[in-house]
Amino acid sequence: MAKQPALPPCPICGQPAREQYRPFCSRRCADVDLGRWFSGQYRVPSTEIPSEEDEKYTRRVDPDDEVG
Ligand SMILES: [Zn+2]
Repeated sequence: MAKQPALPPCPICGQPAREQYRPFCSRRCADVDLGRWFSGQYRVPSTEIPSEEDEKYTRRVDPDDEVG
């Protein structure tokens, strides 16, 4: 009988998102999303992303290595 919030699925893994971590399902997925940010896979025109810093972050954050 418990009501579940109508949150969209996690954009990272597709599982039901949690209110606590939305729009993600967990902190891990949020971190993965952040890693993609730094890797330059995301293009957000409204945000300034220094391309020179991008390379530095790519070395520190490797989302693919987090899987498992
Ligand atoms: Zn997820």
